[in-house]
Amino acid sequence: MKCAILERPGTIRVDCVPDPQPGDGDVVVRVQAALTCGTDLKAYRRGHPKMPCPTPFGHEFAGDIVEVGRGVDGFAIGDAVMSANTGPCGACFFCIRSQENLCESIMDEMILGAYAQYVRVPARVVRANVYRKPTHLPFEQAALLEPLSSVCFGAALLTPELRRSDSTALIIGAGPIALLWLAVLREAGIGRVIVAGRRRPRLDVARSLGADAVIGEGEDISAVVGDATQGRGADVVIECTGDPDVWSKAPAYARKGGMVVLFGGCKQGTSVQLDTYALHYDGIRIVSPFHFRPIDVADAFRLLDVSTFDWSSFITSQAPLDDIADVFVRLESGQDIKCAVLPHESVRSMEEPESCV
Ligand SMILES: [Zn+2]
Ligand SMILES: [Zn+2]
Repeated sequence: MKCAILERPGTIRVDCVPDPQPGDGDVVVRVQAALTCGTDLKAYRRGHPKMPCPTPFGHEFAGDIVEVGRGVDGFAIGDAVMSANTGPCGACFFCIRSQENLCESIMDEMILGAYAQYVRVPARVVRANVYRKPTHLPFEQAALLEPLSSVCFGAALLTPELRRSDSTALIIGAGPIALLWLAVLREAGIGRVIVAGRRRPRLDVARSLGADAVIGEGEDISAVVGDATQGRGADVVIECTGDPDVWSKAPAYARKGGMVVLFGGCKQGTSVQLDTYALHYDGIRIVSPFHFRPIDVADAFRLLDVSTFDWSSFITSQAPLDDIADVFVRLESGQDIKCAVLPHESVRSMEEPESCV
């Protein structure tokens, strides 16, 4: 089959590799759509500690099951499915406390290689985090399951007094994750959402997705948030930039008793300064969630299935697998929110050769 390999930062090639085979409990999925993601872009730019090069990559996908391993329960060949990229072990210190996002071996069998015609989904993922795709949901939107799960985990940490129709949330950043937050905060019942970002086209998308106000580069975030909240500050501040400077500033936009979600991971070794006086005396709570639990994947699945949110606006282009190098050049320039890579597109008209010749 064809599979994209990140040779080294900045260089991607499409290779011919053996088709994956299912082990016990695994399934093999024919990838119908795989989405680009900020993590992949980071790996492309500067490498990634969890993805030593050369490596297959891509982890947001949906497709059809074409093979099932021994002992698979609940799925069969022909099922259209959507999947997260990991599954918890279910038995470690963290798993038995329902903190599966911290499972000691969560990354051991992480799925890498969704930019390929087929992908093996390991048994632990099949057991916890694979769902049958609703027929009304296109494959490329179903592939939002993984990033949406991590946002659903973050949203699950927001306490009830913040989830009100008269609450105001500030999202800092306007990339794909920030825009998913917009959807999830709406769903959580928060009445007013303000998005601050740098790129005007992204802010326009935020507007079209229902942001009540957007704040562009050079505009005063505190002033806009203050105006919207009688000077109190936002009930909830969501940081989605991974910029240490923004981490430091984020609590200043929150109201007393508000909550700050530091969601964009910074580079290893990064430290930030925080105003301890404000944190303590204003009772501001800071959380910094990473990854997700099966319960969050279930939430994300439910949202994709039933919400009327316009998920299609996240996917701003499509490309065959052969063009993946160009896809990343375009992502670099910030033109796309997410691109749907369609691994069978270029061979569709050729009687399914599926081989690499
Ligand atoms: Zn991702
Ligand atoms: Zn575990």
